[in-house]
Amino acid sequence: MICSVCGVNKATKLCDYIVGQVESVKQTLNETCDESLCVSCSLHIGGDYDFCPDHAETIKKELLMYGGASIEDNFKVPLAK
Ligand SMILES: [Zn+2]
Ligand SMILES: [Zn+2]
Repeated sequence: MICSVCGVNKATKLCDYIVGQVESVKQTLNETCDESLCVSCSLHIGGDYDFCPDHAETIKKELLMYGGASIEDNFKVPLAK
């Protein structure tokens, strides 16, 4: 798979930004952006999360909005320890 941002490098990551939730029979699953990203086009945050450039901006704005609280407090899923 090729990175959908630069179109050059091999994509090894997917954007983990949560865009919605999918109700399945047993559980509610988070639906993520899933944009394919290479290492240089992704923003790596916290435990094991990567974001596409668009969603990296969204995350940064959200963090500013909440006055610099830690990303763990604002992110919708618990970060892997
Ligand atoms: Zn790229
Ligand atoms: Zn994204």
